[in-house]
Amino acid sequence: MAKNPFACGECHLVLADGVDQCSRCPSAQVSSDWQGYVIIMNPERSEIAKRLNVEHSGKYALKVNTR
Ligand SMILES: [Zn+2]
Repeated sequence: MAKNPFACGECHLVLADGVDQCSRCPSAQVSSDWQGYVIIMNPERSEIAKRLNVEHSGKYALKVNTR
């Protein structure tokens, strides 16, 4: 059974398999309940990156549901 990786509730970064804490935001909540997988290559040119406040390229979730 495939399990969703965690995504960071703060910066929306999708974490690697088995990782349950964001290295950029150690105090942020993570959640496996997220939607909208996006890969951001050029944050400075990306509208989605601006919306998510993303400053680094990487894989992100559009929406992260944290409790
Ligand atoms: Zn984060």
